[in-house]
This record gives sequence, C-alpha cells and structure tokens, in this order.
Amino acid sequence: MSSPAPLVITIDGPAASGKSSIAREVARALGFVYVNTGNMYRGMTWAVLQAGIDPADAEAVAAFAPQAGLSCPVAEGRTQLHWQGRALTDEELNSDPVNRAVSHIARVEAVRTALVDAQRGLAALGGLVMEGRDIGSVVFPDSPYKFYIDASEAVRAARRSAQGHADQVAERDRLDSTRKTSPLVIPEGARVIDNSTITLQEAVDQVLAALRAAGLVAA
Ligand code: C5P
Repeated sequence: MSSPAPLVITIDGPAASGKSSIAREVARALGFVYVNTGNMYRGMTWAVLQAGIDPADAEAVAAFAPQAGLSCPVAEGRTQLHWQGRALTDEELNSDPVNRAVSHIARVEAVRTALVDAQRGLAALGGLVMEGRDIGSVVFPDSPYKFYIDASEAVRAARRSAQGHADQVAERDRLDSTRKTSPLVIPEGARVIDNSTITLQEAVDQVLAALRAAGLVAA
C-alpha cells in the first residue's frame, strides 16, 4: 500500500515579509503543525559556528552537515530545534553571528540535502504548514496549497529593526535569490499575497479563504 500524499501548506517569501506570523496563525486555525524551516538553517549555522568551522569554508561545512546533531521534535503545535539534546533559544537562532552567516551556510548543497530530507520526513506527522524559501518550489512541489508572501523592502527592514535584530535583510535576500541551488522564487501555482499594508488577520483570512476555495475541508 502506498503512503497517503503529504498534506502540506507551503508558505514562501523573502526575509521579514511576515510569513512566519501568517504561517503560525494558519497552522493554529487548522490544527496543523507549524514548521519554520528558516530555524533549521539557523540551527545548522549555530552548530557550524559552535564547532569552530569557518562559515565561508563550504567544504568543511558540507562535511559537517550530515552529522550536525540537529533534530526537530514537535511541542506546542510546532517543531522545535534541538542541538546536542537541548532546545536552541530564539535569541540563539536570531543572534547577530547567525544572521550574518546563515545565507552562506544555506548555499551549501550538502546542507540543503540534509535539511530537505528532514523537512520531507516531517510530513509523516500529518497536516503541516511549512514556511521557508523553497518549500513550494523544491521541498513539496506537488502541494496544491502554495502561497508566496511578499512585502516592500522598506516594510521588511522596518519589521526586523522593530524586532531588535541587526539583520541585513537586503543582503540576505540577494544571496538567497541568486544562489545556484533552490533560489528564492515564486513557486509555480503559488498564490501571491502582498503583506506590505494589510494586517496579520487580513493576510491569514486571505490564506484561509483560498484554502476553502481550493477545497481543503478543514479550512
Ligand atoms: O526564514 P528566515 O529569515 O529565518 O531564514 C534564514 C535564512 O535561512 C534565509 O535567509 C535563507 O538563507 C535560509 N533559508 C533557506 N531555505 C529555507 C528557509 C531558510 O535557504 N527553506
């Protein structure tokens, strides 16, 4: 007997577009597990830095990635990021050294292979709302429920600085959009939502309305 097709709502978009908040609320409304794949790349970056590996040394990063010691158990409706048996905190995952290095780590093919495998494995948990950069284009390209959340660069930079992170949003987007493997793109078949001027609730309502129209019964 073949296993059932994965039930994954994919939400992609550039840094600080608001996709995490939208994905979290949609998952809560549907009772699905929320998966933030950016945190997986951030966790890998944290582990690389802790291991004393130079993030610019792609060969050393590639050798390290398959045995980085990361896992993603589910708690409170979302995946957590554990490294060496403990949960990494939001402060660690969003620290300045991680912000600076993460888009370099995410360009390394062996990193993407390890994390994409883990992301696909999560579908065995049941319904997921998974957000990232390549979820609708590469990780679950057959999902009928794809979204792309955009916002102007000014709005995204303001959001990140309001969160207190010294993050180079424009530079990360440049690296993410121009890399060879799985660059940030609008996935084929994705519904694009411009989140520059609407509220979180309005964005969530747009996603849920589209899911209802697409026949997702639980919506
Ligand atoms: O979503 P967030 O901004 O936390 O992601 C951090 C970084 O992780 C991105 O800038 C990108 O380099 C990488 N990433 C990725 N593919 C994903 C999710 C995140 O390359 N699916």
